[in-house]
Amino acid sequence: MADNTGTKVISTRGMARAVHETDLCVVGGGLSGLCAAVAAAREGIKVVLMQDRPVLGGNASSEIRVWVRGAKGLHNRETGILSEIEEDNIHRNPELNYSVWDTVLWEKARSEKNIELILNCSCCDAETVMKDGKSRIVSVTGWQTTTYTWHTVRAKYFADCSGDSVLAPISGARWRTGREAHAEYGETFGPIDGDSKTMGNSILIEARETGRPVKFVRPDFAYYFEKEEDFNFKCDRSGDALRHGMPVADAHRSISDQNISVKTTMSRPCALGTDETNFWWIELGGDSNSLLDAEQIRDELLKTAYGIWDFVKNRGKQDATNWDIEWIGFLPGKRESRRYIGKYVMTEHDVASGGKFDDTVAYGGWPMDDHNPAGFRSFEYSFPPSVLYPAPSPYGIPYRVLYGEDVENLFFAGRNISVTHAALSSTRVMATCALIGQAAGTAAGMCVNENETPDGLYEHRIRELQSKLLDAGCMIPGRKREIPALSLGAKLNLSDSDRAVLFNGIERPDAEGTVNYVDLPADGSIVYDFGKETRLSELRLVFDPDFSRKSISDNRKMRVFTQTASRGLDFRPVRVAATLVKAFDVIADGKTVFSAEDNFHSLVRIPLDIRCSRLEIRLRATNGAPRAHVFSADVR
Ligand SMILES: Cc1cc2nc3c(=O)[nH]c(=O)nc-3n(C[C@H](O)[C@H](O)[C@H](O)COP(=O)(O)OP(=O)(O)OC[C@H]3O[C@@H](n4cnc5c(N)ncnc54)[C@H](O)[C@@H]3O)c2cc1C
Repeated sequence: MADNTGTKVISTRGMARAVHETDLCVVGGGLSGLCAAVAAAREGIKVVLMQDRPVLGGNASSEIRVWVRGAKGLHNRETGILSEIEEDNIHRNPELNYSVWDTVLWEKARSEKNIELILNCSCCDAETVMKDGKSRIVSVTGWQTTTYTWHTVRAKYFADCSGDSVLAPISGARWRTGREAHAEYGETFGPIDGDSKTMGNSILIEARETGRPVKFVRPDFAYYFEKEEDFNFKCDRSGDALRHGMPVADAHRSISDQNISVKTTMSRPCALGTDETNFWWIELGGDSNSLLDAEQIRDELLKTAYGIWDFVKNRGKQDATNWDIEWIGFLPGKRESRRYIGKYVMTEHDVASGGKFDDTVAYGGWPMDDHNPAGFRSFEYSFPPSVLYPAPSPYGIPYRVLYGEDVENLFFAGRNISVTHAALSSTRVMATCALIGQAAGTAAGMCVNENETPDGLYEHRIRELQSKLLDAGCMIPGRKREIPALSLGAKLNLSDSDRAVLFNGIERPDAEGTVNYVDLPADGSIVYDFGKETRLSELRLVFDPDFSRKSISDNRKMRVFTQTASRGLDFRPVRVAATLVKAFDVIADGKTVFSAEDNFHSLVRIPLDIRCSRLEIRLRATNGAPRAHVFSADVR
């Protein structure tokens, strides 16, 4: 009997069992797990992606609806697989419907022929062996609720992208929770003696303006907030909100009194229909156990979220008469639980000093955004719900935080990497997690192909890993992409300065405003002359995805990442970046070998298997801009 993943299912007395043999098993299909699986599959290895929910995306999915954020600064916008997914979403889902977003993510996994996707399957066991004093995972097993089947996946490598580090307690890998004492790593924020508290879980609300009055009746189970003071937020129409009775300066002083260095201000919550709409502050559970107490935390969050909506609708200062709940979460998003202890532990100091690592494979750039464990109830402790500590953008994240020294075939990626609580408060944002996932998946692919261990890869092949990531469109702070010798040796129809830009190994504008692209007419062309017949295996193009995102949406929030949590009547669909080249031909010695009619991706890699002496990339149209911007066009 075969199940829908094409693997063998052996009927036993009791429940069915399926056994899968693969190269890499990724556990957890959030953005880190999805990007890890796609990156590994593109290395040519077989991947099983096991995800316990019906949809991919983790906290970014329709089930939770957290906005994808990443490094500050437009020129630091994340590229690689994440931007490819965003481009798919803009093209396919211009109304930014969350259900369609789910299918965009699902399709990304399904379209990779090397990925076998097992949804609705919760990993809950592992078989390990000891070899030369190190543990090795042989298989993991999960329970699939839809088919009542136990799935066992035997693999050479495993990547734990579950957020919760589910494989740590069951494989014996080292992990920890909570906030480190200052003395451990010499950090300056968080409690001096450390504790087991974490950031909390949240239920979000998506609201919609209807154009007519909509009634809201508070359910009996919900908390009742008579006035703002009852939940201690002071909201005004413009969207500003401060902890009532606790101005920011006082809140900082209160923390400083305890010798905790606070460098900047706390976050601000929401106002309906503005860029600030975001109910992240409906947060609880950080002072209990965000895993073991998850069911009680969910119930408390539901009582709180419905109580807040009742207040907003029926007694709030903002006129919410015409606003309705489009969706309210039932599955809380988790911010923090177990973190692995890897070969290296990244700290607050690494973030603050820019993460200058020789083995940088990803980057962050979100402030250290530390939430009070008491969350929504933090006023009881006279602390703000969140404090933002500055972090440089970008800062490097090293490869050594993606694997440990105790389980030799295990990677980790996402919020569970080897960082302190302080560093996590920045690295946890999802665009950063996606880059980390891409790095881990690429590394796993190399380990399989080169028969290396994760640590062997660090010792012998870290430059190769970095080159692969750069070729896959990722930015690695401080490193430029190497241009293939074949391209450097050819004559081009460009001026010397344009040629220098095309081959400068930088595929984005820089902080000083240098654009780094070749500016061509929308029907311009780039011609390679090799001087003699030459074998070509790939053409790699990078068009301009409009790092400013101004041509994608008028709405500032939509330009951060194309999702929406609140929809006013003036919502306008997003558009493919006008600067992206839409149509072009590739012509080898006068013969068209490739044509694109409706391109919407910035990175286009075209496999070639040809011999020619002249190759022309002839542009035909952009997605609306008068000029075409080409960051890279090279052949190998
Ligand atoms: C309310 C809230 C607001 C936030 N605000 C932002 C924000 O504005 N922007 C931002 O970028 N980040 C934000 N974050 C942080 C961010 O969402 C997380 O840090 C991020 O989602 C972590 O990514 P991940 O891939 O590691 O984990 P997740 O996104 O949690 O994905 C992990 C996946 O693994 C699955 N899984 C777990 N256990 C198992 C198992 N045993 N077997 C199989 N699958 C399993 C889970 O179901 C999940 O789908 C916020 C978080 C919360 C909760």
